[in-house]
Amino acid sequence: MNNRVHGSKKIRRRSNIEEKNNYREYYPELKEDFQGICGYCGKYYKISRAMFEPDHFVPKKYSKTRINDYNNLVFSCFTCNRKKGGKWPTEDPLVCHNEDCGFIDPTSEEFDEHLSRDENGNIVPKTNLGVYMANVFQFQSRPIKEIHQAMVLYEKINNIDENASIPKSLYMELEELCDLFFDKHE
Ligand SMILES: [Zn+2]
Repeated sequence: MNNRVHGSKKIRRRSNIEEKNNYREYYPELKEDFQGICGYCGKYYKISRAMFEPDHFVPKKYSKTRINDYNNLVFSCFTCNRKKGGKWPTEDPLVCHNEDCGFIDPTSEEFDEHLSRDENGNIVPKTNLGVYMANVFQFQSRPIKEIHQAMVLYEKINNIDENASIPKSLYMELEELCDLFFDKHE
């Protein structure tokens, strides 16, 4: 079992991108580079009924020059984006953390050193910084396990041979899980 927050997906931003004047216009490229999953909680956009949006890794108020910088954007679910908000404990745009507090760019290798998943799909911290991030995103009080279950189910349904009949119970189970997150604004 894969114990990464991002599962088997390795998310990386493309380097050759034309500069745009409004960060929202990067949405299609960002979604593609993040393979449709939230950089912070790993939720796949197709199982969510809430919208996804570009998050500013270094918040706008701490780095006015990076508002339209593609390398500062994270494809984020609505919930993670709201939880993170303008938090930037170091208050220095060039320093993302001070070991105990702050953030790790989800497109970096280092992200996996701080957060992982347990066998049930819950997101668990591995370091003090991981604890900080888990608290900011409130992974403990969100239906992270159920979101993970839904993603496993979604993948299972999509991997079934197109000529085989897909048991209706799988769809119903997926639908029920998705209703559950929707009630929790995920
Ligand atoms: Zn998220």
